[in-house]
Amino acid sequence: MYDVAKIRADFPILSREVNGKPLVYLDNGASAQKPRVVIEAITQAYEMEYANVHRGLHHLSNLATEKYEGVRAIVARFLGAPDSEEIVFTSGTTEGINLVSYAWAAPRMQPGDEIVLSVLEHHANIVPWHFLRERQGVVLKWVEPEPDGTLDPEKVIAAIGPRTKLVAVTQMSNVTGTLVDVAAICRGAREKGVPVLVDGSQGAVHRPVSVAEIGCDFYAITGHKLYGPTGSGAIWIAKERMAEMRPFLGGGDMIRDVYRDAVTYNDPPMKFEAGTPGIVQQIGMGVALEYLMGLGMANVAAHEADLRDYALSRFKGLNWLNLQGTAPGKGAIFSFTLEGAAHAHDISTVLDKKGVAVRAGTHCAMPLLEFYGVTATCRASFGLYNTRAEVDSLVEALELCHELFA
Ligand code: PLP
Repeated sequence: MYDVAKIRADFPILSREVNGKPLVYLDNGASAQKPRVVIEAITQAYEMEYANVHRGLHHLSNLATEKYEGVRAIVARFLGAPDSEEIVFTSGTTEGINLVSYAWAAPRMQPGDEIVLSVLEHHANIVPWHFLRERQGVVLKWVEPEPDGTLDPEKVIAAIGPRTKLVAVTQMSNVTGTLVDVAAICRGAREKGVPVLVDGSQGAVHRPVSVAEIGCDFYAITGHKLYGPTGSGAIWIAKERMAEMRPFLGGGDMIRDVYRDAVTYNDPPMKFEAGTPGIVQQIGMGVALEYLMGLGMANVAAHEADLRDYALSRFKGLNWLNLQGTAPGKGAIFSFTLEGAAHAHDISTVLDKKGVAVRAGTHCAMPLLEFYGVTATCRASFGLYNTRAEVDSLVEALELCHELFA
């Protein structure tokens, strides 16, 4: 039984007011709020269990190392990954994708080689590939979505040619909530011998994930959207691909021995983790993932599907609301503009006055906004603690916007 009132009580911030109104937090796509267990775990780690990891022989260092390293197995379990040694810690998805770009893709790409991307991608899954275009003459091949925001896996597979070295695709659009059938893309890409990177920043937050079932080669997540701390994250990398990677950042932890004229590297995954890591951040992410698994990701998905359906039913009457991407089965993320001259920033400011927090702008997805012919939208993105009553609050505030700006 999914008890949303009980769940809300786990998140201290949800009881506060904003502008004299109860907070209606609908900016989960940008970053999610933190349950008390995560906040307490961070405090406990700093107050009583803090030291640097890996190099110490003293009690606190060993304790911090044990807790920090223990998170790899939690991430592996959360992602349905067979082996925790395939989990590389990162500061978030952006670092994870840059790691793949520098350490795996750059050394094996010649001018004219291709990377297949979708127009749904977040800048984090575009700009690292542009670097390869600028520096190495790599060609970016873009696959268009359908007008309803869906991405046809067959179109992605058809875009894979003899010079394609990688497919990089999101599992869920952070703008429209569109869900991409990444497993179908991976099946087609595998037949053509091309690895697939999946951006799981949004996908992993809203439904159960199994990298084994998806059949991808790289799967990146970011802790702060998963109800964990900022600066935490991980990327799952298939063993075969890891063996092909050169180190990324150089420094402590990723080395075995350093001499004046030579260096040897640590075994993966630490080979790809340089310097003092986000110790407490990752410990916090581990607690957040345990919290999610405790709720059950299938239950989270069902709750959010109900919110999506309810929101869509409430939006139906609003003929001045333009939704970008209305694909069936999408996540509870809604991007919209209002008929008339109101800019997304003005709309979000009015909503904020009513305590409703949404995001306005390009959502780090400029190619997708261009596809929809808009320069900015508002985005209401729901999470596991949101309620139908909050959908009503959003609609009420939007009606006020319509009155003010029509
Ligand atoms: N990919 C998607 C789909 C996202 O929504 C985001 C964050 O908004 C990112 C990548 C980047 O995540 P981070 O900024 O945490 O690295």
